[in-house]
Amino acid sequence: MTQSLQGKIVAITGAASGIGLECARYLIEAGAVVYLLDRDAKTLEDKTAELGSQAHAIIVDLFDYKTVDAAVAQIVEEQGRIDVFHANAGAYVGGNVWEGDPDSWDAMLHLNINAAFRSVRAVLPQMMKQESGDIVMTSSIAGMIPIMAEPIYTASKHAVQAFVHTVRRQVAKYGIRVGAIQPGPVVTPLLKDWDQARLEANIKAGALMEAKEVAEALIFILTRSKGVMVRDLVVLPHNFDA
Ligand code: NAD
Repeated sequence: MTQSLQGKIVAITGAASGIGLECARYLIEAGAVVYLLDRDAKTLEDKTAELGSQAHAIIVDLFDYKTVDAAVAQIVEEQGRIDVFHANAGAYVGGNVWEGDPDSWDAMLHLNINAAFRSVRAVLPQMMKQESGDIVMTSSIAGMIPIMAEPIYTASKHAVQAFVHTVRRQVAKYGIRVGAIQPGPVVTPLLKDWDQARLEANIKAGALMEAKEVAEALIFILTRSKGVMVRDLVVLPHNFDA
């Protein structure tokens, strides 16, 4: 990989695990300085140490908005700017609506929608001041098409898509680009909450992806030329079946 993001200052939420962690790895390989934000302090610190001197850990609970604001302030104090913000953290709850646990929906919706939107809000004033910046949200293929096994998750990711498409238009005049990646099923700890029969069927069909395929998509988005951003990038296994 070329050092195509040499010296770029990047922050990623949900970076202690899965997609966020792999994206951090790829960004570092591309030359970026990466701040990994997560609430899982022990894993975050261990994983950040493994990534070397370009990686920095900040413990953030996205439900406690002050910690996100403080993280942004710390990065700006240390680096003078933030070039890329990857709003990646999210959770998954599936199943039939009539059998679902509304409390677990509330927690997921709070993270996938409110906390994600608040984290983008936290970084915008700095990017507006800089008159530059890239924001990428990890949405899901569930944000593009209705997936029967997961109505509430699908609704949350449709909200992410609507947010991306509208905020992008509000901030374009400040030189800020906003985009989203929509992965299909990726092998990460998030899949532990999938229905087991569905998981086995997907494994059998070879319809699961690895986090590195999402990380490659992120690098692709970020390295487009200045005025151009691939606004939405769907990343799917070839035999994906919703
Ligand atoms: P993951 O469970 O491996 O990682 C999620 C990370 O978010 C964890 O490190 C966790 O500690 C952190 N987190 C959770 N709540 C937090 C909070 N309140 N504050 C700070 N950090 C918090 O999940 P993943 O599969 O890597 O998912 C990342 C994103 O990708 C999510 O938005 C998810 O919806 C999306 N996505 C995942 C898949 C998939 O199949 N894995 C597919 C499409 C989209």
